[in-house]
Amino acid sequence: MRHLLKALAPIALAAVTLNAAAQDFPTKPITIVVPFAAGGPTDRVARDLAEAMRKPMGGATIVVDNAAGAGGSIGANKVAKAPADGYTLLLHHIGMATMPTLVRNIPFKVETDFEYVGMVNDVPMTLIGRPSLPANNYQELTAWINQNKGKINLANAGIGSASHLCGLLFQNSVKVDMTTVPYKGTGPAMTDLIGGQVDLMCDQTTNTTGQIEAKKVKAYAVTSPKRLSPAALKDLPTLDESGLKGFNVSIFHGLYAPKGTPAPVLKKLNDALQAALKDADFIKKQEGLGAVVVTDKRVQPEEHKKFVAAEIAKWSPVIKAAGVYAD
Ligand code: ASP
Repeated sequence: MRHLLKALAPIALAAVTLNAAAQDFPTKPITIVVPFAAGGPTDRVARDLAEAMRKPMGGATIVVDNAAGAGGSIGANKVAKAPADGYTLLLHHIGMATMPTLVRNIPFKVETDFEYVGMVNDVPMTLIGRPSLPANNYQELTAWINQNKGKINLANAGIGSASHLCGLLFQNSVKVDMTTVPYKGTGPAMTDLIGGQVDLMCDQTTNTTGQIEAKKVKAYAVTSPKRLSPAALKDLPTLDESGLKGFNVSIFHGLYAPKGTPAPVLKKLNDALQAALKDADFIKKQEGLGAVVVTDKRVQPEEHKKFVAAEIAKWSPVIKAAGVYAD
């Protein structure tokens, strides 16, 4: 018996230490890893969310670390391998659901390497073009695409990203192959699109609304089934109504922590997330960019996990049927 007690003592001590650390959390800055470049849509959501979570986290410092590259898998892998103490979080998007099918060799498991903190928002996407493109609407774009087969390039944020998925499904639907140009995020891709170095891009409204409004890019269509409400996007037709029946790509963002993060820490993070999603300023910023802040049960860790599992099940056959997955 004495041996058993002696053997269990370090475990009990570790549990007490962990619990005490969880009670005090946070005592140092929290980092939200964004797996794409600064200045893009995921980065924008992360920075606004960090700001909105600061107050409910007791004024904690929350910083953003852009660990960009490989379509979002470098940043996700960094968090999967980080200490499970709540100080390193991941803000990712639909890639959590599509990467497992879209990319054959990712170095982590979406289902088992993370704790799910909760979902942040739903974000539609738009198909946009460089300002010098002669096509002024989707019908003219279709004609231009058919006249320029073999010469068109399409920007994206790397294999496995949302713009990659949307671009692949678009090429598949119009039955025209385009040269994809991968960037570390659609922030830098947008700079090149505006500069005319690339022709087309499919990206979140959180990146495109402002540029469409400022007429810096040409807007052709919404990729989700319903038209959108921000003023700049109101008159934009959906791809579905423009002839690509059933075309439907819309994305989400969620917050994740490394597997094994203590439950009391996760609870504090989820409480802060829920408070942030009720923050009037955060909601206003998101809505102005066409994103919809989550108000339903998907903000709960278990529900978000179920939602991501359902998204994996939904996208896997679509990606496989389209034959658009990559190595
Ligand atoms: N919008 C990007 C994507 O296509 C990611 C980003 O730069 O935020 O996945």
